[in-house]
Amino acid sequence: MSAHDAWATPERRALRELVADFTVREVVPHLARWEDEGALPRALHERAGELGLLELGFPAAAGGAGEHLDAALVTEQLILSGGSSGVCAGLFTHGIGVPHIAAAGDPAQIDRFVRPVLAGRAIASLGVTEPGAGSDVAAITTRAVRDGDDYVVDGAKTFITSGTRADLVTTAVRTGGPGHRGLSLLVIETDRAGVSRSRLRKMGWHCSDTAELHFDGVRVPAANLVGAEGTGFRQIMVNFAAERLSLAVQAYATAQRCVDLTVDWVRRRTTFGEPLARRQLVRHQIAEMAREATVARTYVRDVFARWQAGSPDTDVVTELAMAKNTAVAACDAVVDRAVQLHGGMGYMHGVEVERHYRDARILGIGGGATEIMDEVVAGRLGLDG
Ligand SMILES: Cc1cc2nc3c(=O)[nH]c(=O)nc-3n(C[C@H](O)[C@H](O)[C@H](O)COP(=O)(O)OP(=O)(O)OC[C@H]3O[C@@H](n4cnc5c(N)ncnc54)[C@H](O)[C@@H]3O)c2cc1C
Repeated sequence: MSAHDAWATPERRALRELVADFTVREVVPHLARWEDEGALPRALHERAGELGLLELGFPAAAGGAGEHLDAALVTEQLILSGGSSGVCAGLFTHGIGVPHIAAAGDPAQIDRFVRPVLAGRAIASLGVTEPGAGSDVAAITTRAVRDGDDYVVDGAKTFITSGTRADLVTTAVRTGGPGHRGLSLLVIETDRAGVSRSRLRKMGWHCSDTAELHFDGVRVPAANLVGAEGTGFRQIMVNFAAERLSLAVQAYATAQRCVDLTVDWVRRRTTFGEPLARRQLVRHQIAEMAREATVARTYVRDVFARWQAGSPDTDVVTELAMAKNTAVAACDAVVDRAVQLHGGMGYMHGVEVERHYRDARILGIGGGATEIMDEVVAGRLGLDG
């Protein structure tokens, strides 16, 4: 089966229809309000859980179903049907928040943390970034010191997606010495004494809340440690693959949605007595936008298929970095041209391309900035010496 056929099996066509229907009925009519309110309602998580959209890509032993590709298809279709990368960030934060717990395989942790999240009854975040450490994950300073059956956590995390609403945060903490070997993952429930959080305002992704978290002597049971002490960095890196691919899917889907919106607009908008769609310059710009979105989709899907298959004949980690950068570059170029072709209307709040233009800017920063992706590629090319 080719990389593309896998996206169009009868089951996946049905999933696509389900997501399109969910998006059109239960997301699009409310999205402007959620953008103004700065967060998604919990009821949306419950509904997505009921529909089985949150469990996709998780192992069956942790209450999951399907493959990563199913989760990616949901992301793609949600954006193509009028949702946004911001909705994906807020609704599917569990995709970065709990896979480490599912993979570590502790049944008690899975019951306490993973199953409620996949059912949409709880919200999970991932807390890695700190005010002083973003791209350089190994520089994290939030400390967890063992005290009897507990860890005592002190430090701060920033830019945490869904952090104002999260019930639990899978948090990167320093349990050992300096460098990446000293890091562990600890689940911190946000109702514990000593946890405080504040909302951050930002350029885009307005419906996806973002928080700064502070931990002041927070006592956390040692039973909340995910995997072994000292394995936090490796767990984070393993899960970066899925996060980067998800961001790449968000990027090409946003690009495609903006192509579709712009085609519709230039057919309707008349200047100097003719629809914009009749002008060769406009037609060629849209042809170029469509080419960029198509190339990005094709390459990302191809890398996705090889990554999911565990294909041994390819350096997927390197190509995954290339795929993210390819899709982000396509998205950046397309959203910019989409706004331009919409004219003043493209600059108006509440017009869909304006939202995509703002939302898109994070895709080349989050989950490993474009330059960090290039560093991955450069390292694999043997440029480290
Ligand atoms: C909306 C939003 C949501 C986020 N959600 C989460 C979340 O849920 N959980 C979480 O843990 N984090 C989250 N983040 C944090 C995000 O992962 C970081 O912002 C990102 O990793 C970059 O880290 P930084 O901001 O500290 O930038 P820095 O590391 O300070 O880098 C700044 C810039 O410098 C450049 N740069 C950095 N290193 C190099 C280098 N070696 N060579 C060349 N150029 C370089 C890049 O252009 C980079 O953008 C989120 C951020 C945003 C804005």
